[in-house]
Amino acid sequence: MARQWRGVVEEYRDRLPIGPDDPVVTLGEGGTPLVEAPALTERVGARVWLKVEGANPTGSFKDRGMTMAMSKVAAGDARMVVCASTGNTSASAAAYAVRAGLGCVVILPDGKIAAGKLAQAIVHGSTLVAVDGNFDDCLNIARGLAEEYPVELVNSVNPYRLQGQKTAAFEVVDALGDAPDIHVLPVGNAGNISAYWLGYNEYAGRTTAASVDDVATRLEPVATRVPRMWGVQAEGAAPFVKGAAVEHPETVATAIRIGNPASWSLAQAARDDSEGRIDAVGDAQILDAQSLIASEVGVFVEPASAASVAGLLALAELGEVPKDARIVCTVTGNGLKDTATALGRAEVAPTVVAPTLAAVVETLGL
Ligand SMILES: *Cc1c(COP(=O)(O)O)cnc(C)c1O
Repeated sequence: MARQWRGVVEEYRDRLPIGPDDPVVTLGEGGTPLVEAPALTERVGARVWLKVEGANPTGSFKDRGMTMAMSKVAAGDARMVVCASTGNTSASAAAYAVRAGLGCVVILPDGKIAAGKLAQAIVHGSTLVAVDGNFDDCLNIARGLAEEYPVELVNSVNPYRLQGQKTAAFEVVDALGDAPDIHVLPVGNAGNISAYWLGYNEYAGRTTAASVDDVATRLEPVATRVPRMWGVQAEGAAPFVKGAAVEHPETVATAIRIGNPASWSLAQAARDDSEGRIDAVGDAQILDAQSLIASEVGVFVEPASAASVAGLLALAELGEVPKDARIVCTVTGNGLKDTATALGRAEVAPTVVAPTLAAVVETLGL
């Protein structure tokens, strides 16, 4: 029988802060495909792979961090978790809370969540509270709840989230044999870019500011080097590019519609220490990249995920992409979560014909 992937905690247990007797709350997350993208390779003149995180159990990379965070909560006394969410954190928290037998409260910005993500939080039985404000307001409220009540916060300010998310970098190295030259990913709250940087460094035998123990030096290095980290924000929500918080973030890519990133300093360190960069792309570029990835690579991603590819394409046009570099773009979430945005630009209605072979053949012009 083929070996079953056991989830990121069991697969990378020796590199995660989890005790031998701690409970592991898992839905089999991680082990996601690293898909070559010849259509992108051709366009940018460097070899491009997509790390397809939409293949996780709840359809985004958030599951990697959630398995760690929820396992830690399950080991303690709290009976309830809380998160603020632009959608995917709540989808993930809701599912993993079910798995852990915990209650889940979701604080979300009213009217700004893609329908698919909202559906996930609802079917998994979370308590939803919509706030007339933005994500940053929601996170402040969630933090307050966790401080004053017996509720655990599972947003990425929870350090175990980054620990779980760093495993994506391990998987990239395991697949390619070493770190790529450049790793590109969308930046919202900036936890993921910080987690990848952490993972790449620990696999190369170095610690970063986000390390919580000595695994980097206790274990043999697996990688010989680390990549440059290229972050991509949406123009309307680009605090790193502006160098200051954005009070009213706005973008079609709701998962990165964040004006005041929680992992600000870690992400800045990832950018600077890797000699990387964080740029911004417009919503039109994001949606163009989303449809390009769907129609030419065969992967359906949500808008925020397409920001990484949009950024790479824009930099390639400026001649900023080194020829023949090995580049991995993380596409963070599944396109099925937000079909309305994707279909908003397409011709949806199929032609209706008579129920005969002849009519279909005629329509196809065969
Ligand atoms: C959460 C999320 C992001 C942003 O990740 P950060 O860690 O907040 O920077 C990007 N894309 C998707 C699909 C997400 O769910």
